Amino acid sequence: MIILEDVNKSYGKGAPALNNISLHIEKGEFAFIVGDSGSGKSTLIKLLLKELTPTSGKIYVNNTDVTRLKHSRIPKYRRGIGTVFQDFRLLKDRNVYENVAFAQRVISVPGREIRKNVPSVLSLVGLAEKYKSKPKELSGGEQQRVALARAIINKPRILLADEPTGNLDPKNSWEIMKLLEQINKNGTTVLVVTHNREIVNEMRKRVITMKKGVIISDQKKGGYIDED
Ligand code: ADP
Ligand code: MG
Repeated sequence: MIILEDVNKSYGKGAPALNNISLHIEKGEFAFIVGDSGSGKSTLIKLLLKELTPTSGKIYVNNTDVTRLKHSRIPKYRRGIGTVFQDFRLLKDRNVYENVAFAQRVISVPGREIRKNVPSVLSLVGLAEKYKSKPKELSGGEQQRVALARAIINKPRILLADEPTGNLDPKNSWEIMKLLEQINKNGTTVLVVTHNREIVNEMRKRVITMKKGVIISDQKKGGYIDED
């Protein structure tokens, strides 16, 4: 589902952000990516979204050769990938319903489908009642659940989350992670960048640890690696 082969990424002079990374993520997997700030986690996510191009190496996602993807095909490619970020990225002047429906409108889903799908996905994230609220009327945890609903409404095969709980308290962090786990159980491949040591240790998923642009550990049912 996701393959990186000898991927390097340099932003300029100095140490590369990613240094010869090779990685396979199978269809249906749930994996955490952990590591110190600056270790290259977000760079990896951006390469998968083709927001960046690697300096060298190969990247395949859903059988697409991402490194050779034409500009004109990038929007369609990205629609196959759901994304969630630390800062929620909701449309501030639209309500919850509209934020989620928007993802379907841009791919021209018929109105009657949207009116069925949005309530269904809002129920899944526990926000059915808040459909009329604006983002500023919601807690951080609720805003992230809207972002999650928006990320999955088009049924992406892959969900990428870059520090989705970075702005949340422990209770809301757990709720978001449990939803990510649920989404994965429904068949979506899920990749989660996080610093949340407790959650990583409890969930016993695959844990890929990065340091200074390299993968220093990749464990099945792993935990957070302690270093001094
Ligand atoms: P992480 O997400 O693990 O904190 P990043 O992938 O954001 O790490 O960054 C990896 C390295 O690349 C860091 O040294 C960072 O300073 C550098 N970097 C990230 N983005 C840029 C950029 N746009 N221009 C130059 N250097 C960058
Ligand atoms: Mg980052």
